[in-house]
This record gives sequence, structure tokens and C-alpha cells, in this order.
Amino acid sequence: MKNFAHKALLLISLLTALHFTSKAQYDVHFTNQQLRIDYYIFGNADTCYYALDKYVMEPVWGGTRNNLVDSLGYGDYFVEVLLHDSDVVLYSRGYCNLFGEWQSTAEAEFITKGFNESVIIPYPKETVDVIFYLRDYDGIFIEMMRLIVNPDDYFIQDALHPNYSILNVHGDYAPEKAVDIVILPDGYSEEEMGKFVIDCNFFKECLFSYEPYKSYQDRFNIRAVMVPSKDSGISIPAENVWKNTAVGCSFYTFDSERYCMSTNNQAIRNLAGLVPYDQIYILANTSKYGGGGIYNFYCVSSTDDNLSSDVIIHEFGHGFAGLGDEYYNNAISYEEYYNLSIEPWEPNLTTLVDFDSKWKDMLKKKTPVPTPAENKYINEIGVFEGGGYEPKGMYRPKMDCLMKTFQGDKFCEVCQKAIERMILYYTE
Ligand SMILES: [Zn+2]
Repeated sequence: MKNFAHKALLLISLLTALHFTSKAQYDVHFTNQQLRIDYYIFGNADTCYYALDKYVMEPVWGGTRNNLVDSLGYGDYFVEVLLHDSDVVLYSRGYCNLFGEWQSTAEAEFITKGFNESVIIPYPKETVDVIFYLRDYDGIFIEMMRLIVNPDDYFIQDALHPNYSILNVHGDYAPEKAVDIVILPDGYSEEEMGKFVIDCNFFKECLFSYEPYKSYQDRFNIRAVMVPSKDSGISIPAENVWKNTAVGCSFYTFDSERYCMSTNNQAIRNLAGLVPYDQIYILANTSKYGGGGIYNFYCVSSTDDNLSSDVIIHEFGHGFAGLGDEYYNNAISYEEYYNLSIEPWEPNLTTLVDFDSKWKDMLKKKTPVPTPAENKYINEIGVFEGGGYEPKGMYRPKMDCLMKTFQGDKFCEVCQKAIERMILYYTE
């Protein structure tokens, strides 16, 4: 019963998807531009509030024009665009954010915090209702904010156009037929912009040295915004190191040393919006190990650590494909991150509550469920206990995977399939 509302919502989305799959439909309802909706999300461990900040018109919609309605159902947050005063869904997308992660930290028990964030939608030709949902602890989507957007409203701002040059790192495909990645530099001084170009190529080499990205590299565009930072390097609060950088990344996010994220959403979005984008990737100019990746939000990786290539690809697994962490014995400071009595939405984790919806069809007939962590199953797809920061009650598809450790240096078959599905979602 708990999942009923959620499933009903997704069923509606799936049904609607059947009716809104052609480019013609895109042209009926949307222009070539995109609308950025900035808002604040704030609260504590038990509360969550939304407040509108502003609307910004950006020059080019970088997303798919075919799969306008989200049929994947990933993410703890969800935005839906409806024809005004109707139940006709024109666009929807799931995502995650920093606020949701922060809510699981011990600090959220004691104080209230607020974060600025944005969703981007194709720019509507007529008045639409935009509805923001939050998935609660029981997995049910709750409506949190409803906006009526008139595309002719003169308070919709034109995007700022900071005068930075764009580096074309890879691909020159039509944005609606490609996964568009925008790379933003953080902590590169004016003198270090040459290094940033080298690091962008390093990023590209990393991405396309892993399957399935390698096989699909002709469906990716990678562009970088050439914005220098005033200071070189990245802030490290616990060492009293503070840097003035382009997008303000910092280690010790949520007091976890290697978690390197930024809360300066405006800086990130103003720069990303200079090019069509589906995914934002921030390269942090530091040799300190760290990074982070949040589904349909943004990813960060340091570039000069000797594990950087693995971090880059691991974080993109979160940001792009919605993959969950398959590790469980790490010093991540989350409390009860997953509700073990429901099925998580991440494609590579299961509580076995609804395993049929996951990788059951990829298991050999004789593989036991759950699968014991024995040597004879080391190369098998199974259901191994431990994953998603939980040693018990959460299961992962393989003994090892890039979403667990960097030892085997490749994604398990379940993660590969999920990544491939997402590439096709953006590009077919
Ligand atoms: Zn995996």
C-alpha cells in the first residue's frame, strides 16, 4: 500500500509518455529556449519548505525532445509541467539535491538550513503549471510547490551572459540527440587555464575509457566554460584554507573530508547556462582526493589525485545514471539514509521488497538469492548483502563494481545496463 500513490503517479507518467513522444509535440508546446526556475529549499531533519526565487530564460534547451516525460522514476525529487489547469503532462523529470542529503546528517536534527537550487524545463509557449514533488521516507511523492508560469511574464529574466569563451572538448552533435556535458572549472587561476584544457581532455579520456560510455562516444557533446578563479585551489575548512573560486567548491561538505561540493547554485547555473547542457561536471583544481555526484544536479571531482579517473567516473555514475553507492562500510555520515522496508529507486540497489523491478532477469537460474559472498560467485551477477551505506538489508548486484570500490576498475553489468538505458533515454 505504501507505494501505491508513487506507482500510480509513475503509471500516469508512463501512459502520458506514450502520447508525448514525438518531436512534433515538442514544437507544439515549447520554444528552442529553456526556462530555469530558481528556488530555495529549506528545513531540518523533519521539515521541508520550498520558496520561489526567480525565473530565468536561457538561450538553448539542451535536453531530449523525444522523451519529455520521465519514464524512469529515479530521484527523490520530481518536477512536472502541465498544461495550465489540466492533467496533461508536457514534461517531467526526477532529480536529487544537496538538501535531501543534508537532511540525513546529524546536524539536521538541531538546526534549519536552506539551499538555493534550480530546475530547467523547455520554455513553454503557453501558460503551464509547474509542480514540485518530494518523495517521502515511505517512497510516496508529495506535492510541495505549484507555480503557474505565464511565458510572457515580464519578470522572467534574460540569462546573464558572462563573457567567457567556450571550449569544445568533444562532439558537435545536435543537443537534442546527444548527452550534453558542460564542464566548469573551479580553483583554476588565470595562469592555470591551460592546465584546465589539459584536465578537460583528461576527463574525456577517462569517460570514454569505460564501458558503456566508450561504445556510445558519438552520442556525447562535452563543452567547457573557460572561467578562471581568483584563487588557485579549493577550500578546506578543517585546515582553515579558504579560496575565492568560480563556483565555490569546498571539502568537508557535511563535515565529510572528501565530500567536495558547492552551495553556490547561482554561480554554477549562470555559467552552465552559457551552453546547452544535460549534465554539469565541475573539475576542482586540487591534488586532494575528493568529489561528489548527485543525480541530475551536478558532479564534482578533483583532478590531480592519483585516483581521479576513478572518482570522475564514479561520481558521474551518480549524477548521470542515478546509480547508488554499492559500499556500506565507509565513514559517510548519513543516518538512516534508506528506508529498508521499501524498494529504493536506484537501479543497482535492492531491499528485495520489489526485486522483480530490478536485475532479477539478469541472474543465472541457479544463483541463490541472497547470494553468499563466496569466491565462486566473484564474477557472477547476484544479490550480495551490503550496499547503500547499509551492511544489512540492502543488496548490490556484484561483489565488486566501480560504484563500490576502485579495485576492479569497471562497472558491474547491472550498472552498465543502467548507464546505457540513460544514454538511450537522452539520445533516441
Ligand atoms: Zn554496479
